[in-house]
Parts: sequence; C-alpha cells; structure tokens
Amino acid sequence: MTSDERISVRGARVHNLKNIDVDLPRDRLVVITGLSGSGKSSLAFDTIYAEGQRRYVESMSAYARQFLEQMEKPDVDLIDGLSPAISIEQKTTASNPRSTVGTVTEIYDYLRLLFANLGQPHCPRCGQPIASQSVDRILDLARQFPGDERINVLAPVVRGRKGEFKKELAAWRQRGFTRVRVDGELRSLDDDIALDKRKNHTLDVVVDRLIVKPGMERRLGESIETALALASDLVIINTWDGGDRLYSRRLACADCGISVPELTPRAFSFNSPHGACGQCQGLGAVYDFDVARVIPDAGISLAEGAVEPWAKGDVKLLGDALARLHEVHGIDPAIPVRKLTKRQREVLLFGSPTAQAASGKRRKAPVDPFGADFEGLLPNLRRRYEKGTWSEREALEPYRALATCPSCDGARLKAESRAVRVKGHTIVELTALAVSESSKVFDGLELAPREELVAGRILKEIRERLHFLNDVGVGYLTLARSAVTLSGGEGQRIRLATQIGSSLSGVLYVLDEPSIGLHQRDNRRLLQTLERLRDLGNTVLVVEHDEETIRTADYVVDLGPGAGEHGGELLFQGTPAELLESAPGSVTGEYLRGEKTIVQARARRTPGKASLRITGARENNLQDLDVSFPLGVFIAITGVSGSGKSTLVNDILYKRLAKELYRATDQPGDHDRIDGLQHIDKVIQIDQSPIGRTPRSNPATYIGLFTFIRDLFAMLPESRQRGYKPGRFSFNVKGGRCEACQGDGVMAIEMHFLPDVYVTCEQCKGRRYNRETLEVRYRGKSIADLLELTVDQAYPLLESFPSIANKLRTLQLVGLGYLELGQSATTLSGGEAQRVKLAKELSRRGTGRTLYILDEPTTGLHFEDVAKLLDVLHQLVEQGNTIVVIEHNLDVVRSADHVIDLGPEGGSGGGRVVAQGTPEQVARVKGSYTGAFLAESLAGPTGRGRRSRDVSVVA
Ligand code: ADP
Ligand code: ADP
Ligand code: ZN
Ligand code: ZN
Repeated sequence: MTSDERISVRGARVHNLKNIDVDLPRDRLVVITGLSGSGKSSLAFDTIYAEGQRRYVESMSAYARQFLEQMEKPDVDLIDGLSPAISIEQKTTASNPRSTVGTVTEIYDYLRLLFANLGQPHCPRCGQPIASQSVDRILDLARQFPGDERINVLAPVVRGRKGEFKKELAAWRQRGFTRVRVDGELRSLDDDIALDKRKNHTLDVVVDRLIVKPGMERRLGESIETALALASDLVIINTWDGGDRLYSRRLACADCGISVPELTPRAFSFNSPHGACGQCQGLGAVYDFDVARVIPDAGISLAEGAVEPWAKGDVKLLGDALARLHEVHGIDPAIPVRKLTKRQREVLLFGSPTAQAASGKRRKAPVDPFGADFEGLLPNLRRRYEKGTWSEREALEPYRALATCPSCDGARLKAESRAVRVKGHTIVELTALAVSESSKVFDGLELAPREELVAGRILKEIRERLHFLNDVGVGYLTLARSAVTLSGGEGQRIRLATQIGSSLSGVLYVLDEPSIGLHQRDNRRLLQTLERLRDLGNTVLVVEHDEETIRTADYVVDLGPGAGEHGGELLFQGTPAELLESAPGSVTGEYLRGEKTIVQARARRTPGKASLRITGARENNLQDLDVSFPLGVFIAITGVSGSGKSTLVNDILYKRLAKELYRATDQPGDHDRIDGLQHIDKVIQIDQSPIGRTPRSNPATYIGLFTFIRDLFAMLPESRQRGYKPGRFSFNVKGGRCEACQGDGVMAIEMHFLPDVYVTCEQCKGRRYNRETLEVRYRGKSIADLLELTVDQAYPLLESFPSIANKLRTLQLVGLGYLELGQSATTLSGGEAQRVKLAKELSRRGTGRTLYILDEPTTGLHFEDVAKLLDVLHQLVEQGNTIVVIEHNLDVVRSADHVIDLGPEGGSGGGRVVAQGTPEQVARVKGSYTGAFLAESLAGPTGRGRRSRDVSVVA
C-alpha cells in the first residue's frame, strides 16, 4: 500500500487501546473484529470516526468551529489519509413522530415531486377525476362537435340544495335570461316556478343556444364566460345526443363543487399545513379514550365494575343507571361485557341512536340520561375531558391513548391530497404497500413521452431507492411506517440504503454490526450492499463478529486478546486469506480455521407438560396464531426479519404477562387468550435499552453494588472521625459531590443543530467528588478510584464482602469483567447494557418459576463470548426457569431445547408458525429458512468441527 492508498493510524490510545498502529486500505471493505470489550468501537468510532468528524467541523463555519476546542481530540498521535466520515449506527436517532421510512430515505420527497408533476386530482367526496380547463380549452372541446349540432350553454347555479330560490329566479329574469332547467326540465323564466323548499333542487340557467358552424367561436366564448361567472367557474355544454358535459375553470369537482388546491409538492407533505390532515396535524394519530383502558377486563360485568371510570363513582347512582340501561337498551349489567351483543356494545360505547344522531349539535340537558338520551361512554368521557378542570382531566388521563386519527385514518394527509392519483394510485396506497410490493408497482409504471420529460428522473430515483431498501433486507416495511417504531438494526439498514441512494464517493463509512436482526438468508444481500457502497469509491469500515462478513471483507483487523485492560492490542491485520492461513495469536483466526470450536456439553431437555399457550395472536402481521411455549426449557424464536418474532414475544407474550403478574398498564398486542399462567410467577424482559439515561447511572448503581460500597466507605475509621454518612459518598445529593457538575463529572454543551457535546468538569477533573470526600481511602483507594476500577480489578480488593463479591461475580459471569464499575450508562453499548441487566437478574434469588425474555442477546458478542452467555442462560434453565430468546445466531439456536420458527417471509408474507420442535426437527422442515441453515450447521460445516448440542468452549 502506498501512503495515498491507506488510512494510517499511529499511537492510538483511546480507552483501552494500547498505543497501537493500524493501516487500513482506502476504498476497501474493512472489518474490525475481536471479543466484546476488546476495543473495536474505541478504534472505529472513538478514534477514526471522531477524528474524521473533527476535521469536518473544522471545515465548517466560524460558528461551528468555536466548539472545536471543546470537542475532545481523540488520544492518538496521528491519522493520515482520512476522508470525511459518516457513521451509520444502531442508535435510533429518530425520535420525531413525524419521521417515516419514506421521509428518512427521502423517497417520500421524490414521491411528492412525482405527484405534483403527474398527479390527477380526484374529488375527495365522489371520487371522479377533476380537471381544470381554460375558456380556450373548453372552446376547443366544443369545436369538436359535428357541424350543425345544436348546443346549449348552461350555468349550473344550484346543485342539489334545498330551498325555493325565489330571489335567485327573479334576479335571473331581471338580467334578461329567459330559460332555466329545473331538476332536468326546461322551463321559461316567465312562468311562476314554485319549488318545494324541503326538497333538493338543481337549477341550470340557460345562457345561450346555438348551432355549431364556422364563425360561432366568438359568441360561444362569450357565453361560456358568462356561464362561468354565473356558476362560480362551472359551465355545462349540453347537446341533443351527447347530454351534459360539465367543465370547471378551477380545480374543483364539477358535481360536488369541492375545489382542490393546486398540485404542489407541499400539498403532499404532512409536515406542511398545505398537506397535513387538519384534525391530527399530520401525525396520523390523536389522543382519545381507549376502550381497552376504559374497560380493561371485558370478562367481568358492568355490575362488577367493568367500566373503570364508573367504578369510582357513587354506588347507588350507578345501580340506578345500570337498571335503566338494562330496561331501555337490554344491556344486562350482570353478564360479562364480552357477552353483550354487538348492538348493545355499540350503544354502551357510542350512545343510543337518538343521542348518536344528535351528536355534535347543541342539545338541551338530557331528560333520560341512561335511557333514550344515553350519551355513550366515549362521547361522555370526551365531553367531560374537554370541559373538565385541570384535576378532572388528570383523573381521566390514564384512560386515554394514542389512537388512529378518525379523520384521515392514520394517513396523515388532507382528503384532497389523498384523492390525487398517479396512474390510478394514490400516494397513501403506495406508501402503505410493503417496499417489496411498491417496488414492483413503480417498476411497472410506464410514462408517456411528455410525462417522461417531467418525471422520468424522479421515477428513476424512486425505483433505485426502493431496490436498495429491498436489498438491505427491509422489503417488508412500508414507506408509511413510523420511524420511531423501527428496531435499531432496521434503522441502521435504512440509513445504509439511503447512503447508497445518495451516491456519494470518497467518504469513510463506519458501521456497527449491520448484521444484527438479520437472518442468515438476508446476510448475503446486505454484504453485497456494503460492497456496492465500496465500489462507489468509499472506504467501508465495519465492526462485526459475523463469520460471513469477516470472510467477505477485503481486509480484517483483529483486536484482543481479552477485553478491557486485557485487550486493546492489535492481534492481526491483513486479508481474510492471510487470517485463514496463519495468524498466530488471533482468536478470531483460531475460530475461523476451526482450531477453536464451540463444543458439545449438554443434552437436550424434553419439555414437560406445563406450557404457556397463546390463542388467536393477531397483532401486526400475525395470522391468528395459536402458539405453545413449553416451560422449564430453553426456547429460541427464529424467523427472517419482519416475520413477527418481536410482535409475538415482546408485544403479546411479555406485555400480557406483565399485565397479569404486575398489573402493568401497557396494552398487550391483539390476541384472544393465554393459558397456563398458574405455572409462572415472574416475567423478566432483558432488552438492549440503556440502563440509565444520565452519566450518573453506571453498572455499579444499576446492579445495586454502589449502595454496599457507600456503606463500606462510611464505616471506615476516617469517615467515622469526620462524621461522614453513606450519603456523603453519593453523587446524587449535595455534601460530598462536586457541585460544579453536580456529580456528573462532565458538563453538557449545547451545540445548536448538533447533538450535545460532553466535556470533562474543570472543577473536579471528572472525579465527581469534592476534595474532602476523596481524602477518605479504602486500601489506598478513594471512592472515585474505586469506580474507575474494572470489575476484574475490584474483585480481589472486595472479595471479603459477600454481598459485593456476589454481584461482582455475576458481572464476570456474563463476560463483563472488563467493565469499569463507574462507566457512565450513556457509553455502554446495547449488548453491554443487556448483559448488565442479565447480571442483575442473576444476582437475585431466582424463583425457579420465572420466564426470562431476551431479544438477540448475542449482539456485540464474539464467538468466544457466545459460549459464556449460553452457559449462564442454561444455568437459569437448570434452576427450573424458562428462557425465551429471539435469536439468529445458529450456535444459540442449536443449543435450544425448543425452536419456534416464524415466517416464512417478513411482513404480510409471514406471521405464521413455519416449524416448531427440537432443532433437529426444525432442520427437517421443508420451507423453513431457519431449518435449512440449521441442517447445515448441525451437520457441521467443513473445518469448523462443530457438532450438535455444542455449547461450551474448548481450546
Ligand atoms: P468493543 O467495541 O470491542 O466491544 P469498546 O471499544 O467499546 O469495545 O471498549 C473497549 C474498552 O473501553 C472497554 O473496557 C470499555 O468498557 C471501555 N470504554 C468504552 N467506551 C468508554 C467510555 N466512553 N469511557 C470509558 N471507557 C470506555
Ligand atoms: P421480527 O421481530 O420478526 O423482525 P416484527 O414483529 O418486528 O418482526 O414485525 C412483524 C411485522 O409487523 C412486520 O411487517 C413489521 O413491519 C410489522 N410491525 C412491527 N411493529 C410495528 C409497528 N409498531 N407498527 C406497524 N407495523 C409494525
Ligand atoms: Zn388525521
Ligand atoms: Zn465536577
């Protein structure tokens, strides 16, 4: 490599990096791998990307540059050959409820252009096409009538309105018109025209009658103008055999009179008042009373208090009211609400027919509030909420939830914009299709030459970007999907597709485990996407554990050998071929060459009789599933991305159990019932969300270690002398902490337009405590020193205290021995956060009847770490507990006792159980993608020496 073909890093010392030198080839796909905590992110993100960013800010305005000094310069001697850097991370930066897959990929911007250019407006009420025509255009059309045809020019003045129209008729007579067509019948204006004022009428004034022949244009033109003026821009040309033709000079429905705005891109933007639905302001959802909250248990009767807001009222009054509801509407207060007829439920929720008919109009006080005038539960709550005082509102708040906007039905746009069509499709229809489907629609669109001219480019951009989305494995998502509901992996892959669409070159892209959440089936296409990004002339730097990715890369960097202080060294750099050949000391190489394997240790457990059984699961794409989760075993839920795993496990199983066991208020996803609850007494979800959002939370505070440490410091002789209590050693209260940063150790600087930047507190130099507090020492270490130790370092110092030692051991068990006790929660990766939570659960006494739920626990884990994690999880099962994991990693799936494979595809092509049983049974099921990969893995890939039921590591 010559110097302009590489990025050279010299003397990198960020975090645990041991002053390392690395040379990366430019314009290549480079993988950085190594154990969890070995320093991959420290090198890729905190050194190379951070420096790229700094140089980028340097090139910006003076305003941005003033913050440069405060942006910490990474601890590195030199980086050469750097390009502008863009990171594509897992962290979902989208917290804006207005972002959708369409807007973040910019596809929606192109769609708006397409609709503004090619859209054909339609009437939002009757659906017929609307076109505006100039007088000249109308004349042109009229000229096409055959010669000698007799035509009438009419002004459609009244269209289906009630009234007698005496004044209007008189006025027309006075202006000299002689005829009018009344409800289709020609009448003389001299007649006495008496109209029934309670009926709808249609009146067209006859402006002119003439015969088509050369020279009549001028007169016809004038007559059309007159009619247009009389009938607010509408005119009818009537012929004997052609009947009526209606023309409009504005964009308005000639029949309904509804006018629609000019087609502009912003008319299709739900972030603009020109396009947004008026009721929800473009959010697609509004807060409203939620039936599931108002009646949390439809299995009980009204008399038993099914309606929660009523149950808090006066018992006697309620009794009378229920009796009246029963008498008039047949709503039996003694039967479960679920058993009421559809009709009765409707009355209960929305009111009696008379009340419903009168809704919206001002009414007198109801005479018979629980009989004929019964207002209905929801209208009543809405009214009380709107008129209520602040405290009344607060009392009602728990019964409200975000619900689909009734006006736009979640489509976010105005009716007029929703009615515009391009080649027969509305923008709402197109964004509601899965990307894989809409991609086919756009590929099939054919443009006329004139259309090609105005929209050819736009269509090309849309097609390409849809293909990119498909390629990164998110073809099951819709463009309308709200970005905040996407998983980290989905968000990252979408950003990746967007970057390819932008066709930049000369950029350094840094990605963090792009394979997360992706089934092996889709991995190949994702890799091709990375290669394409490279072939555009970019350097692609990927932090990854996935074997296929490592084998595909142009260049591999392996860090290690251990984690934290035991890592940070460069074990290998070179091509995958060289790594496979021989790379002494590289753990990754040893695995890839099959010298190290994850080997057999454990026999499969046979599920007992006890199980949890979900019936009728229908949330999102689930297709009315009945699924059994056998208890006391290790269950893996598998399936391609978007097949419905999270929906089944997180939205239904977990939320339902949390509701039953802990009275949680979060509503579970749609399903009929769950059986077998008696077998478990605890459910614990261990996900990848942060353990805390402020720098004050850290592993020690989270797992409850810090309390013991504070007590320990308060018991030291020095503390007793000075009268220091445990509170003195807290950074959450005044006394012992540094007041300048209030114990954070860092101060946030707001960067307009950019995320906050944290800088070390000047006062305490990041130590968080004041000087006096730091004078108290345990075995030579102040409390700040102790927090800077890793778990492994702290263990020998503290092992004589059983409660502390026990918690430290559980952190080591989950592979976090390298973590600093006081490392701020905001700097932990999702995988680390998940394992800290796991450690916390492990240090508790298990009940033996607990259900643990984990979502891709192998995220961020190297081959070597996976085995450790599996050991811990299987230990929990040995104690009688049940584990449910969503996982793609085949080492984990193979070690499961029971596999439930969903699919076969993502989105509407999925949501079914494709296979279930032992891994061996699933491996034999045709049509299961997971089965196919499992079969290969169980057979043992060449050179890897893997055998079935392999779980623990041997060297
Ligand atoms: P990897 O990406 O290989 O999992 P990291 O680069 O994230 O590893 O971490 C390497 C070491 O640096 C670990 O000991 C980790 O705890 C530590 N570390 C990571 N981020 C920070 C930080 N912001 N402050 C202090 N230590 C950190
Ligand atoms: P998996 O966990 O297998 O990747 P999910 O359960 O996340 O699959 O998704 C199943 C289907 O439900 C997909 O089509 C997905 O797009 C859809 N889906 C998931 N969450 C939501 C949501 N919050 N809103 C709308 N659709 C969703
Ligand atoms: Zn709306
Ligand atoms: Zn401070």
